Parts: sequence; C-alpha cells; structure tokens
Amino acid sequence: MLNLEDTYSHKGQRKALVELIKKKGIQDEAVLNAINTIPRHFFFESALHSHAYEDKAFPIGEGQTISQPFTVAFQTELLQVEPGDKVLEIGTGSGYQASILYLLGAELHTIEYQKKLYEQTKKFLPKIGIKVNFYHGDGSQGLPSQAPFDKIIVTAAAPEVPKSLLQQLKVGGILVIPIGGRLSQKMMKFTKRSPKKIIQEEFENFAFVPLLGKEGWEGSK
Ligand code: SAM
Repeated sequence: MLNLEDTYSHKGQRKALVELIKKKGIQDEAVLNAINTIPRHFFFESALHSHAYEDKAFPIGEGQTISQPFTVAFQTELLQVEPGDKVLEIGTGSGYQASILYLLGAELHTIEYQKKLYEQTKKFLPKIGIKVNFYHGDGSQGLPSQAPFDKIIVTAAAPEVPKSLLQQLKVGGILVIPIGGRLSQKMMKFTKRSPKKIIQEEFENFAFVPLLGKEGWEGSK
C-alpha cells in the first residue's frame, strides 16, 4: 500500500536539506521553494525512506538513480524555467525532477528509456497531483512530435551534445546537459541566440548515469 504521509519530521528534514543546498550555492528562490515543497521520500521505496533527505543520489531500480538534490537544484536553476515554458525532460526516472519542473509552472514533456520506470512513474505522478506528459523511448533524439521547446533538461550524461536537441530548441531556448566521460561530466548550458548562434557555458563536475540511445552512448560505440 502506498504511504503518502508527509509528517512534521519530513518537513523539518526537507527544510534542513534546503538550507544545505543554499549553502552549497543555490540561490533561485523558486527552485528552493520547489525543493521545500515536493516530498522527496514519496519517490523512494520504503526501505530507503530514512535516506530521502540526504543530499545524495539513490537507486530507483533498473540500474538507475534519483539524482542528488543539489544536482536537481543546480540543473533547474540553470534552466531558468518561466511559468508556461514548454519543457522537455530526458530521463523521467522516479519523476522527482519532473515534479519540481511542474511546480515551477512548466508544460512538461518527459521521456524515459526504461519501460518499467516509464510505466511506474506515469502511474504514480497523477496520484500526487503532478500533471505532465509521459513518453517512452529514446530521448537522446529529443521528441520531434512535440518540438520545439523553450527548455530542454537531460538527466543522464552524454559523450557529446546531441544535435537533435539543439535543433529542437526554440530561439532564446536553453539546453542543460551533463557532458563528458563515463565517470564524470561537466554540466553544460547551451543558449540558442539565433538558429546558427549557440552560446555555451560550462559548470562544475557531476557524475550521472549514461544517456543511452542513438545520440547517447550507444551511438558513440
Ligand atoms: N530525472 C530523474 C529523477 O528525477 O528521478 C533522474 C533519473 S536518472 C539520473 C536518469 C534517467 O535517464 C534514467 O531513468 C534512465 O533510464 C534515463 N535515460 C537514459 N538514457 C535515456 C534515453 N536515451 N532516453 C530517455 N531516458 C534515458
């Protein structure tokens, strides 16, 4: 039976987590507020509940993880979501990042490669009032049927930037994606100033699970 209790203790732990990620450098109040609002323990299997407010990644099945809260906040801050933005998330996973984006007012389209995770999360998010659009498939090629997007966030690491994602970004749009080797990657932000001009910024190191698929690691073999 699903236990969706959000106790006083959970709220206290969440507040402490928000203070911690603030100290680590997250400044965007809307992002901090979203982390403070979404009960992260809802996205954990019951055996791991007591760890939900640690600033760490944890397993969610199928060899995948729910990202570290600081990482979620960092990527979300870079994405600069405005209410009404049409956003593509690649790597739905547990649905935690999707819930944060929904709370920020995004019209979210989220795609997941692992069938089981796609089915689980598609069933679960509506139960906690999160309304997003779910897709199953290879997000390394974006989501042509819904393109273009104001913002694109990739929550798995690619060996290089997938060209399809830059193509599916509107002018003025932002793509946030970890890029690098198997073990560690730089967080990259691409801002599309015109169809041909793309500004690239590079941030600190992170460690993500690999982006699979044609424009991910499978295409680079
Ligand atoms: N955003 C997720 C969350 O909040 O739980 C984080 C999930 S995990 C770090 C990355 C996810 O990307 C995994 O669920 C993995 O299956 C998915 N993934 C990897 N390659 C993919 C691809 N080509 N298309 C879509 N999803 C992919």
